[in-house]
Amino acid sequence: MPELPEIETIRRSLADCVGQRFLKFSFFREDIIREKTFDPQKLEGNSCVAIERRGKYLEFVFPNNRYLTIHLGMSGRLWKSHDSNEQQIKHVHMVAVLENKETLIFYDPRRFGGLWFTEGRTENVQKLGIEPFDVQFQAEFLWEKARKRNISIKQMLLDQTFIAGLGNIYADESLFAAGIHPSRAARTLTVAEWRILQQKIVEVLQASLALKGTTFRDYRDGLNQKGAFQAFLKVYGKGGEPCPNCGTPLERIRIAQRSSCYCPLCQK
Ligand SMILES: [Zn+2]
Repeated sequence: MPELPEIETIRRSLADCVGQRFLKFSFFREDIIREKTFDPQKLEGNSCVAIERRGKYLEFVFPNNRYLTIHLGMSGRLWKSHDSNEQQIKHVHMVAVLENKETLIFYDPRRFGGLWFTEGRTENVQKLGIEPFDVQFQAEFLWEKARKRNISIKQMLLDQTFIAGLGNIYADESLFAAGIHPSRAARTLTVAEWRILQQKIVEVLQASLALKGTTFRDYRDGLNQKGAFQAFLKVYGKGGEPCPNCGTPLERIRIAQRSSCYCPLCQK
């Protein structure tokens, strides 16, 4: 599933959609629209004034406080295309024609993603927690939230209402970098441990962002290009392989129905 670095890479790669008029929207599956408080055709002829990202959501902002919000779910892609044949690809659910004749294509075979057309920000986005690149993203703030929660640190990092944008890949990588065991109770982390974890989360996300994200199979950026961070992952998806620090075989456990990979020696 694309996480913060992948969605931010898409946002940056679509920057030239800002300032362009969106001439026409076509939908090939109505149920991909999760919510609409106005008819999407009302956006036609309007210029996109900004593309913003919150957590794993992208928001295309239009005049009159109208938003097109997009979530890519497990397998979604969003890219701009010069090739009109790409509109015919199976599992393309939305095509938007831009002023410069390019099209913006939303594709999602597994359909865990979706589109929201709302006046103002959609409720899902309003419920999101802190952004890891926000200045408020600091150890004391995180410790204060976590000390009241009775769940594991891994589960807590995946909770989008706590931190927005982390998923399984970057949660596993950050916990490894910080030397924290994924099944540790979140409330037992000290402020000093949060300081390290906070710093590692930011470092891991920035390193991935610099390489345009992680592509295993599905993820592509807004120009339909793969990311390159997969070559630099240390533990995610590597159960049974040797720990890059100490050589001990990495272990894989299930936490909250998700698999977690970690080093039993380096992570406490
Ligand atoms: Zn190790």
